[in-house]
Amino acid sequence: MIYESTRQSNHKIQASEAIVKGIAEDGGLYCSLDYNKVKLNWEIIKTGNYKDIAYEVMKHYISDFTEKELKECISNAYDQNFLGDSPVEIKKVGEKFFLELYHGQTAAFKDMALSILPQFMVTSLKKQNIKEKPVILTATSGDTGSAALYGFKNVKDVEIAVFYPDGGVSEIQKQQMVGVKESNTYVCGINGNFDDAQTKVKQLFEDEKFKSWLKLNNRFLSSANSINIGRLIPQMVYYIYTYAQLVQRKHIKWGDEINFSVPTGNFGNILAAYYAKLAGLPIKKLICASNDNNVLYDFFKTGKYNRNRSFIKTLSPSMDILISSNLERLLYSISDGNRDLVAGYMRDLKEKGAYELDENLFKKLDCFYAGYGDEELTKSEIYKVFETEKYLIDPHTAVASGVYENYKKETKDETPTIIVSTASPYKFTRGVYETICGESELSDFELITILEEHTGNKIPYGLKNISQSNPHHQDICEIKDMSENIKKFVEKNMKKSDQNV
Ligand SMILES: *Cc1c(COP(=O)(O)O)cnc(C)c1O
Repeated sequence: MIYESTRQSNHKIQASEAIVKGIAEDGGLYCSLDYNKVKLNWEIIKTGNYKDIAYEVMKHYISDFTEKELKECISNAYDQNFLGDSPVEIKKVGEKFFLELYHGQTAAFKDMALSILPQFMVTSLKKQNIKEKPVILTATSGDTGSAALYGFKNVKDVEIAVFYPDGGVSEIQKQQMVGVKESNTYVCGINGNFDDAQTKVKQLFEDEKFKSWLKLNNRFLSSANSINIGRLIPQMVYYIYTYAQLVQRKHIKWGDEINFSVPTGNFGNILAAYYAKLAGLPIKKLICASNDNNVLYDFFKTGKYNRNRSFIKTLSPSMDILISSNLERLLYSISDGNRDLVAGYMRDLKEKGAYELDENLFKKLDCFYAGYGDEELTKSEIYKVFETEKYLIDPHTAVASGVYENYKKETKDETPTIIVSTASPYKFTRGVYETICGESELSDFELITILEEHTGNKIPYGLKNISQSNPHHQDICEIKDMSENIKKFVEKNMKKSDQNV
């Protein structure tokens, strides 16, 4: 499969190059027009285990890897970083299914892709014969940062710098990041929100001065954000796996349609589901669930994307986003790769903060249903699911669950629906605890244990031993100083490696 930028540049590349680069030179995202030409071997998918399906799916998208290379990536990622045969679990709770994607090291779904991205990166560097070291530059609303740090912290010849909004992530998310000690990691809070950090990261990818400084120091920038195609492809796998599991467990027959309700921020997870649909998975509706930052809800209702609105902090911080980067890829797909058009929308977004789809494109969005859950709905859904089913969900999952309930009331659609469960409730303990038990003065770390005692739901292994130990990283900076801080981090590492020689 060949990839190209969603915008102007005509450069056509293989997956390994797209993975190494992360983002195209013109600021666009790597995409392919061939997603709907993929012919999956459904016989393997019907009976395979998670890793078999992962190989059968990903080989079409990362087609320049050999069988041996891709299989090694898969088993390194999913054997070491998850417990059990399958990295995901599907639970039937009442009438709904919950697809638990949070059984990795940092207890959020980002682990699904960020356990394998470092494998892809190392393999791709070798294939591309690149001797310079990548500096993985990551903006995070909380979960990407920790999952990327855990994924890359022991990877030789790769450095990773993570920027999170100071005050915009949970105590537990923060501790997961600032507690990472490996010398190839750098973590820094910023005075600003996630969009500010993400916008600056994208600018740095286009900043020639900064890039030549890195080049002089034998380095180049790469990305672990969901703008990297190496993150989207592994996410397709669990949608396809889930379908096969529902057939095996006789909840549906082969060929029946299902819906997924996906708590959405940067539009990566739900886009992977859309790609699975393009590959032939019988998905009826993709329910795009937002929180109070409901820019996607407005977009799917009206065809207008407008980020000119205030940024709202919610109980589901990983969805507190006004610029959903991966939507650009959806525009590319529905316009059949009309890159001038996409580039124009993105220019409008940058200059005016808004753009509007033309009528013909808007019509192509009808496999999506959009809804949003405010804080009240989030809390009442956590409460209701726990009271009726003794099943604990996190605020992001609660948004998806609540939006699905509204969808069902509105449409009377009885199609089996899977709620995509993106984080362990213990990762967002305070919101979950206070919803069920009332306000508390205790720290998030103390609340974890109390919540387990109270609900009987088990703390996942990744969070079992987390405590407020001494933070290893303590920097906080202004947005404009991000590049200076990265330079200092790189210089420090170079001094260290000189000493080791
Ligand atoms: C990142 C994240 C999301 C949003 O996923 P996108 O791919 O950015 O749309 C939802 N829930 C949780 C817990 C997350 O960490």
